[in-house]
Amino acid sequence: MKEILCCAAQSGLAAATAFALKKKPVASAALGSADPSAELNALVSAVQALKQELEAAAAKANEDTAAILEAEAALLENDFLTGAEKTIREKNCTALGAVQETAKALSESLERNENAYIRQRAEDMRGMGQRLCALLRGEKHILPEEPFILVAEELSPAELSAYPAALLRGILTAKGGVGSHVSILAGNLGIPYLIGDAEAVAAIETGERLILRDDKLITEPDEQLWNETLTEIETKKKAAAVPLEKTRTKVCANIAGVGDCPALAASAAEGVGLFRSEFLFLDCAHVPTEEEQFEAYRTVTELMGERECVIRTMDIGSDKKADWLELPPEKNPALGCRGLRVSLQKSELFLTQLRALLRAAVYGNLKIMVPMVASLWEIDAVREQLSLAAAELEERKAEYRIPALGAMVETPAAVLMAPELAEKVDFFSLGTNDLTQYTLAIDREADGLERYYDPCHEAVLRLIAMTVEAGHNSGIPTAICGELGGNPQAIPRLVELGVDELSVSLSKVAATKKAVAEAEKKLAAPEIAPILPTLLAPADGELYAMEEIPDEAFASGVLGECIGILPSEGAVYAPCDATVTNVTDSGHALTLTDGCGRSILLHIGIDTVMLEGKGFHPCVRAGDRVKAGQLLLNMELETIRSAGLSPMVIMAICG
Ligand code: PEP
Ligand code: MG
Repeated sequence: MKEILCCAAQSGLAAATAFALKKKPVASAALGSADPSAELNALVSAVQALKQELEAAAAKANEDTAAILEAEAALLENDFLTGAEKTIREKNCTALGAVQETAKALSESLERNENAYIRQRAEDMRGMGQRLCALLRGEKHILPEEPFILVAEELSPAELSAYPAALLRGILTAKGGVGSHVSILAGNLGIPYLIGDAEAVAAIETGERLILRDDKLITEPDEQLWNETLTEIETKKKAAAVPLEKTRTKVCANIAGVGDCPALAASAAEGVGLFRSEFLFLDCAHVPTEEEQFEAYRTVTELMGERECVIRTMDIGSDKKADWLELPPEKNPALGCRGLRVSLQKSELFLTQLRALLRAAVYGNLKIMVPMVASLWEIDAVREQLSLAAAELEERKAEYRIPALGAMVETPAAVLMAPELAEKVDFFSLGTNDLTQYTLAIDREADGLERYYDPCHEAVLRLIAMTVEAGHNSGIPTAICGELGGNPQAIPRLVELGVDELSVSLSKVAATKKAVAEAEKKLAAPEIAPILPTLLAPADGELYAMEEIPDEAFASGVLGECIGILPSEGAVYAPCDATVTNVTDSGHALTLTDGCGRSILLHIGIDTVMLEGKGFHPCVRAGDRVKAGQLLLNMELETIRSAGLSPMVIMAICG
C-alpha cells in the first residue's frame, strides 16, 4: 500500500479500479504503399467509424458535451481527413503513416499557439490520431464496464466525455490545472480529480485498485482499507439523501446549459446562481441565433419558476475561445479581450444575447449578470445596450422585461470600486476562480504552480469581506459563484462574512447546504448559550460540589457558582470558546470571557498563590482567543503536593 500526496483539483472520496489511458509510442508507420487508392479507402472508413462513435456519444450526452463532440467530428472530417488524404497522395504512403504525420503536424502547429485554449486542442488532435490509428490497426475501442477511475497523463474535456460518466468515480492525471475546465467538469459530476506525480501516474495499470481521498492517492490498498472505504462511500451516499434544512444563506446551482435541467430539477438548489451562457457559443459552428438563445434561457427560467435564474452574459475569451469569433491572437489572453470586453466590442452579438434574455425574462425570475467588470463605465455601457435591446423589441412589439442586473466581482478593481459599483447594480456575484487568479497573479490554468492558486488565501478572503460589506451598505446582496463557495473548509468563514448566497456545482448543492446549516448554527450558538450554558470540565479528575471545596471563599459562593476538580493530570483546558482576559503573574489563575459575556475564573490549587508561580506554566496570554478543549496551562502536580498544598482546579462562573 502506498500513499502519494497529490494536488486536489476537486477533492472528495473515490474507490474504484483504474482505467489507464496509455499513450502508445507512435512508432512511425511504414510510409511506402503499393496501393494508394486502397490506403485512401482505409482512411475514409476509419474516419467514418470514428465520426459515428463521436455522434453516438453526442446523442447520449447533455447539450454542452454534445456540442464539443460534434465540433470534434467536424474537425475530423475537415482538417484531419483533408490533411491525411493529401499526405497519402503526395507521399504515396500508408493510411497509418498519413494519420500519424497529420496528427503530429496539426498538434504541433496548435501547440505553438499563444492561446491556452487553442493549445489544449493539440491534445484533442493527438487523441484523435491515436484513435484513428487504433481503428486502422483493427484495435477495439475498449470502454470500462465497471466503476473506474480514469488515469491519464493529461485529459481534454472532449476525451473525458468519451468515457461513461455513470461509471466514472474519479480522475487522476499527471498534468492539468486546478482551475481547468476538466476540473470544473469533474466538479459538475461530483467526482474527485487529483493531479499527481508523473512517474506515479504513469506506473498505474488498468485494473489496479485505487483510492482517491482528499489530496491523497492510495495505490494497492489492503483488503481492510478497501472495504472500509467502500462502506464509507455508501454511508455518505445515504447521508446525502437526508432532507435539508432551510438556511439564511441561499444555496444555488451553477449550470452550463439546458442539458443540466434534469439534474437541476432533481437537486435541492434554491435557484440558478450562475448559468454560464458562453457554452452555447463555444465549440459551435455558427453564432447561436436570438431564437436558439431565447429557447435555452426560457427553458431554464421556466423550470426555476419563482426561484432566481442568474444568466451570465457570454464570458468568451482567455481560455474559452469561439473559433467563429476570430479574436486576434493576444500575448496575455487572460488579461486581454474577454468577458464583458468582448461583448462591448461586438455589440451586435451582445444585443442579440440581450434581446434573447429580455424576452426570456418574461417567463420567470431571470436576472442578468456581466463578467469581468473592472470599471464603472462598463456598467453604464451595459445599461445603454439594455435600453437599445429593449427599444428594438419594442419596435418588434415583442414581449420583454428588463430584469435585475448584477456585476460579477472577479477583479481586484471591482472589489475596490464595490461601494460605487453597488450603486449601479442590483447584486454582486463573486467569481472567486478569477478573483484568485487576478489577486494572486497566478494563471488559473497553470500547470505545476497549484500551491500558488489558493482561493482561501487571506488576501482573497479579505476582498470577499470588502465586497460583502460594500454590498450590504448599499442594500444589495452578494453571492459567491466560484468554486470556493462549495469548499467545505471555506464555508464557515463565508457564512460568518455574511455572504448571502453560495452558487456551486450541481453535485455539491446538498453537501454545501448541510455545511451552511451547520455553520449558521454555530454562529448562532452564543445567543442560545445563556439559556443552555454548556461548559466542559476544565480538567480530568474527581469532581467536587461547591460546598465541598476546601476554601471558604469558593465554598460560600461569594465568588459565584463553582465546581472543584481534583486533577489526575497536570493540564487545564478551556471549558468553552472564549477570550482570555487575565492570567495572574504567578500563573495559578486565569479569567476567561465567553461569547455571552460570562466571566469564568479558573483557579488552580488552594493557597497556591504562595508558590509564586513555581510549578505553573500557562500556555496562553491575556487577549488570546481560545477554543473549547484547548490547553490553557500545564502544572507540576508533584511540586504543588510537595509544598503541602491541594492542586484542586476550581472553576467559578462570576456572572
Ligand atoms: C469565477 O471566475 O469564479 C467564475 C465563476 O467564472 P468562470 O469560472 O466561468 O470564469
Ligand atoms: Mg470568471
